[in-house]
Amino acid sequence: MSQRPRDTHPLTWRLDHGAPVLGIDAHEALDGYAALRKALGMEPAAVTQAVKDSNLRGRGGAGFPTGVKWSLVPMGPDAGAKYLLCNADEMEPGTFKDRMLLEQLPHQLIESMVIAAWAIQATRGYIFLRGEYVLAAERLQRALAEARDSGYLGENIRGTGWSFDLFLHTGAGRYICGEETALINSLEGRRANPRAKPPFPQIAGAWGRPTIVNNVETFYNLPEILLQGADWYKGLSLGRSTDGGTKIYGASGRVKRPGLWELPMGTTGREILEQHAGGMQDGLKLKAWLPGGASTDFLLPEHLDLAMDYDTIAKARSRLGTGLLAVVDHTQDIVPAVRNLLEFFARESCGWCTPCRDGLPWSVKLLRAIEHGEGQPGDIERLERLTVQLGPGKTYCALAPGAVEPLQSALRFFRAEFERGIKGGAQGAVRKEHA
Ligand code: SF4
Repeated sequence: MSQRPRDTHPLTWRLDHGAPVLGIDAHEALDGYAALRKALGMEPAAVTQAVKDSNLRGRGGAGFPTGVKWSLVPMGPDAGAKYLLCNADEMEPGTFKDRMLLEQLPHQLIESMVIAAWAIQATRGYIFLRGEYVLAAERLQRALAEARDSGYLGENIRGTGWSFDLFLHTGAGRYICGEETALINSLEGRRANPRAKPPFPQIAGAWGRPTIVNNVETFYNLPEILLQGADWYKGLSLGRSTDGGTKIYGASGRVKRPGLWELPMGTTGREILEQHAGGMQDGLKLKAWLPGGASTDFLLPEHLDLAMDYDTIAKARSRLGTGLLAVVDHTQDIVPAVRNLLEFFARESCGWCTPCRDGLPWSVKLLRAIEHGEGQPGDIERLERLTVQLGPGKTYCALAPGAVEPLQSALRFFRAEFERGIKGGAQGAVRKEHA
C-alpha cells in the first residue's frame, strides 16, 4: 500500500517510489514540470492568486502568507530586474527537513522556483544553500544543468518570451544568513548583518531591487497547489487547523525513532511523538519539548495535545518555528540544556547590536555559574531582565528574541532548578540529583 499518496502528500509523494528522484527523466516520469507548464499558461497574477487562495504560509518559521508576500512585489512592464531567493541556509539546531527535500527531490525545488519566478516575473534567482550541505549542492548543480538543457531555465522559457535563470550559492556557515536581509547582504558579498526594515525586500532587496525570499519547504508546496487547486490544498489539514496543507514535522532527542514525516497541518505533538517517533526511549519520561527548533519556547507534556500550527502554538506562548520537536527527558537538568542553546546563539550573533552582542554571552556566563552551583543572589532576576532587554523590538533582528525564548520559558516552568544553583540558596549542589 502506498505510504505517501499524491492526494495527501504534496511534498513527498514522489519518494513513495523507494528512491530519491534525482534526474530530470525520473522527475518528468512522475509528472515533473507539469505544474510549471500549467503555470506558464496562466497569467502571473493568476498564479499568485492561486497561492493566496491556498493560504500557504511560509514554512521557515514566521508563517507569513506566501501569496500575500508575492503580491507586494511591483509588477508591470517598467518594473525592471527582480530577484527570487530560496532560503536553504538551514542551521536551526534540531532542524533537518530542508536537507531531506533538497537531497532527495532537487528538481521539485527548481520547478517550484520557476513557478514562483513566473508569478512575480523575476529575472534571476539564487538558491542560498548552507555550505555544509555538500550532497545537496552536488545534486542541485546537476539538476540545474539538466533544467537549463531542457529549456526550463534560461532565455525565452517554453516560448513565453520570458527569461529567468537560477543559480546555486553556497553560504560560508553562519546562522545569521538564515535571516532574509542578512542572506541578501551575504549574497551580495557583504558582511552578513541584517538590514533595517523598512524598506522590505519585496520593494528593495538584493542589489536594491524587488526580491522575494522563501523557505525551501514553502516552495515545495507550489506544484500540487497549482495542479490540484487551493480548495484541495486547504482540505489537507483535515480540519485539524485553520491553516491548510501539510507540514514536514519531525522529532529528535531521546525518542525511539527520530525522523521526519509529512503530516496534515495541525497534527498534535502527541501523535508526532508517540505514533511516529515511537515515544520516549525506554525508561525515560518527557520533561519538556521545543516545538520547532532551538529558538522556540519550551512546552510541557500537558501541551502535547495542542495542534501543531502557527496560531495554536502561539496561544500556548511558544512558536511553531520549523515544526521539528526536540525533547528533554526527566533525567536532564534544564539549566545546562538552556546554557547549551544560548551558547550557540551567542556564538552566532552577528554583533551588530549591543543587547545581542553583549547580552547573550552574559546570559551564558550567568547560566554557567548557576549550572555549577556558583550563581549569585540576584542572578535569576538578572536573567529575567535579560530576556526582556533582548526581547522583541530591542534588537535589529529576531536572533536575540528567539535565543531567549527557551530561557524565558525554562525560568517560567523550572525556576526551582535555577534557584538550586544559587550559592547559599536552598541546595547549592543540586545538579547532581540524576547523576
Ligand atoms: Fe546581529 Fe544579534 Fe543584532 Fe540580530 S540581534 S542584528 S544577530 S547582533
